[in-house]
Amino acid sequence: MSLKRSIQMAIRQVHKTVAYRDVPEKLGLYFHELEESQYSIFSDCIRYWADQGYDFVSADEFVERDDGKTLFISFDDNFKSWHAALPLFESLGAKVTFYVNTLPIRGKADADAIDGFFDRIRHAGERVTLSEDEIREIAAAGHTIGCHSHSHFDLGAISEEKAKSEIMISKEILEDIIQQPVTDFSYPFGMRRNFTDDLRDFCLENGFRTVCNAIPGRLHEAPTARFINRSPWDLSQTLSYNIENIRIDGRMFEQMTGRSAVV
Ligand SMILES: [Zn+2]
Repeated sequence: MSLKRSIQMAIRQVHKTVAYRDVPEKLGLYFHELEESQYSIFSDCIRYWADQGYDFVSADEFVERDDGKTLFISFDDNFKSWHAALPLFESLGAKVTFYVNTLPIRGKADADAIDGFFDRIRHAGERVTLSEDEIREIAAAGHTIGCHSHSHFDLGAISEEKAKSEIMISKEILEDIIQQPVTDFSYPFGMRRNFTDDLRDFCLENGFRTVCNAIPGRLHEAPTARFINRSPWDLSQTLSYNIENIRIDGRMFEQMTGRSAVV
């Protein structure tokens, strides 16, 4: 195990001792690709939460509903494997939100652009993205298409002007494809340092209703329209390991260090 990983595991262990809470009633979980080899473990996750009485909700409902247990499931980036998994979502009764990057759309982008995108998200698995038709079919199957910016740059590290255009270009492209308003945004890389308060305001003033983070260990805080917290569900880990991550309250650590208390 690398030194970095050892330190991360030690921080997680301390949190399991001193900041371990019940599973929250509002659960925001996110995923990336969904390969066929992962269907069974993904299904275990979805069935587990359905059995625990969680309702699948959109980002809007996740913010607004204050009765009962709600589960907001989303996927980030742009993977053809989402489209292939539509029958699986159907069989699980799962309605989910897909936050799509528009630069690498298959049939529009060239091979270099697609490779550059997968390099930025450090994805080593199957490197095939969605076509426009597949995005339309995902929306037609009752799922929500959200925006994850055009190119998947770190929007906290580029000029505000460039970041705004990264957001709005992708919103326009997606709306053109699905012929519906796209009102949910998740920013690339998802940590606090990867976005700004001004950009959150910009999104809410320019047609978005919700903005999602991807900061693990913050699910014990109620979501708001401009600050929805999601934790990653790691399909290479067991159900119980993932549940432990959800129960860890890493808010204080994250606020102080900008880092995640769970890994
Ligand atoms: Zn991403």
